[in-house]
This record gives sequence, C-alpha cells and structure tokens, in this order.
Amino acid sequence: MTMRGRGPRRGKALSQIGILRDGAILVRDGRITAVGPANKIEKLKESKRAEKVDVGGRVVLPGLVDSHTHLIHAASRAEEYELKIRGMSYEEIAKKGGGILNSVKKLRLSTSEELKSRARGLLEKFAEYGTTTVEAKSGYGLDVTSELRILSLHKELDAEQPLEIVSTFLGAHVVPAEFRGKDGGTREYLEILTKQLIPEIADNGLAEYCDVFCERGAFTLSESRRVLEAGQAHGLTPRMHAEQLSNTGATELGVELGAASCDHLEYLTPAGIRAISKSDTVAALLPGCDFHLGLKQYAAARALIEAGAIVALATDFNPGTSPTLSMPMVLSLACTQLRMTPAEAITAATVNAAHSLRRGERIGSIEVGKQADLAVFEVADYREIPYYFGVNNCWMTMKRGEIVYLRV
Ligand SMILES: [Zn+2]
Repeated sequence: MTMRGRGPRRGKALSQIGILRDGAILVRDGRITAVGPANKIEKLKESKRAEKVDVGGRVVLPGLVDSHTHLIHAASRAEEYELKIRGMSYEEIAKKGGGILNSVKKLRLSTSEELKSRARGLLEKFAEYGTTTVEAKSGYGLDVTSELRILSLHKELDAEQPLEIVSTFLGAHVVPAEFRGKDGGTREYLEILTKQLIPEIADNGLAEYCDVFCERGAFTLSESRRVLEAGQAHGLTPRMHAEQLSNTGATELGVELGAASCDHLEYLTPAGIRAISKSDTVAALLPGCDFHLGLKQYAAARALIEAGAIVALATDFNPGTSPTLSMPMVLSLACTQLRMTPAEAITAATVNAAHSLRRGERIGSIEVGKQADLAVFEVADYREIPYYFGVNNCWMTMKRGEIVYLRV
C-alpha cells in the first residue's frame, strides 16, 4: 500500500491507497530512492549492492502515525476502570480527585528515570504494532518543574530510541488541585502557563505544539483561546481536545486559529462539521476512548468524510480513557464503530495523520524521497489488518530504513 498522491486526503481520495503487487522498495540512508514492481527495482544498478530484506509476500504499508498520545505517565488507572464498569461516569470520578488529577499525583511522585524507562518500554510496544511516529503530550505534571520534566523526556526519548516523538505541551489539561477551589485559581494557573511555561518551552525547543483540553471541568473556550494564542505568539502551533464530552465550540476556535488538528469530536455539531471540513485543520478521531469508556457516542466519521474533512485516526493512548497503543485495534474500531472502510481507516492512520503533525512531506506514504518508515503485516489482504480485531499481525517495523521490530 503505497498511499501515493499529493497532500492530505479528503472525501473519495481517502480510498486511494496505491496498491502495488509484487513491489519492492529501494532505500538509501533511511530514505526511499525507488518504489515499483520488484522485477524492475531489482534490475537497478544500486539494487545490486543493496542488502535484501524479503518480506515473503506480506502486506507492506507506511509506518503508522499515532498523532495523539499521552505517552509519559507513571501508572495505569485500573482501579478507576473497575469503578467505571460499576457505573460511575468519567466526570464523577474526576470530581472525586480521580481521573487526570490521579495521574498528576502519581507522576509528581515519580523520578524522571522511572518515567523514562516506562516510556521506553511502551515505545517498543508501539513499534510492535507498526507505529513509527508518536505524538506525545505533557499534561500529567501541571506544575512548572513536572511539565518541563515531561517535555525534556520527549526530547531525550526522540534522540535515544528509534521512533520519532513529536512533542506537544498540554499544560492546559485541567487546573491542578492546588489552584482548584481557590479564588482566581484558574486565572493564576493560566498566568503560569502563558507567562512562564510557554516562553520557557519555546526558548528551549521543548515542544512544537500547544494543546488545550477545552471541556466542562477543564478549560472554557475563552481560556483555551488565551493559552493557544500565547503558544502561537511563541511559535507553538495549536492542537485541541475538542467536543469530547460536550459541544463547546472548540472546533470553530481551532479552525479560526489554524490549529493543526482538532481531536475527539464526538459532540461536533453540523456547523462544526462544515467549519472543519472547509479548513486545513485535521479532524482526528479517537474511537479507543468511547470503546474503553463503554460510551456509544462515536464521532460522526461518515459525515466528516462526506463533507470533505481531513480525517485522521489516533489511539489517544492514556491511562484514563484509552489504554491502548495499538493502531491496528484503532483501525478495527474505525471500521466497525465509525463505519470507515479499511482503506479509509488506513489512509487516516498514515497520510492524514502525518499531515496533522505537519510531516506530510516526509512520512505517511511510500514514495521516493520520503523516510523509509514501513510496517509489514502478516496478512494476505490489507483488509485483514482491521478485520482481525485485538490481534496483532504486525510482522516487521522499519524506521528510517532500520528494522526496529521483527517478529521472531
Ligand atoms: Zn487526549
């Protein structure tokens, strides 16, 4: 599946996956230098000297791009999982100091070494499922030291292990406990974010993006605007957690600010669908959340595709609402719950996700000049990738021409 073609895919173009049978890919210095039928590629002069990797007729696709994760966290929240099953809602748990604040408490008590070694283990797992690029958000620190610590870990992990980490600052995840219920507490916390943290993050190149959780119980529309505009003033591109549990108008704000993506969108209105579909802001859908929370409010993927939105898919890997790092599982959910076809889902998880990270020129398809980021699945037909739900058929993962995972 070459996914060849120009720019992000909208509407019918989501189904154009550029199938090449009996293909071969020539790679030099981590980049693709030729793609085509194997009998042609093998005759190229440079191929004679190349090391050959025979994938034995398996299905090759671009490395999966996970454009929304909360990679750095200290522990699972399995205890809340049980409460949810017994009938408590995510918001009720959050009000009792659970939810995000629970993860914040755990993270602040962890050393950087502990967080890093956990994240390294997780990144190895991401690679096992065919993912080669991972966006990672801060947001479980929520104080100056802890947020900077998380963002520095993103940078260190990007340099020290093979997967690419795209760093996003999510200081505006929720208002931390020490500012809650305090007069002017939210205002005070926003001052720290906009006047202290954002400038420092920008000066040290610790993040490319600034994200906000715009939701009741988190940040209002005008507070979100303040944070995102402060980020923009310092060169951080906006992304948003938008319309997850209610409709806030976050999507329209994201579009207005030229956000790279608005994610979730379970409660997007028809007006919101029109707004994002006419824009270059990517609509990233995260069906793992609804699945894990047992909700039935999946995003309106079909309406978004028909309106021409750039639809992407991501895991939203996090300990509270979506503890999966399996993009193939997300593809299965996209097919059965969002009614996306396997071709549309794979396009959303590669080309369009790459565009949401503003890396569309470099990753997301198998084309000359792009990075040799590949995922090889042990299936006879690409549709079997989402078809076998909860089964990992990834056989090999390659990042910049290096094998980073091979099933033994
Ligand atoms: Zn999220």
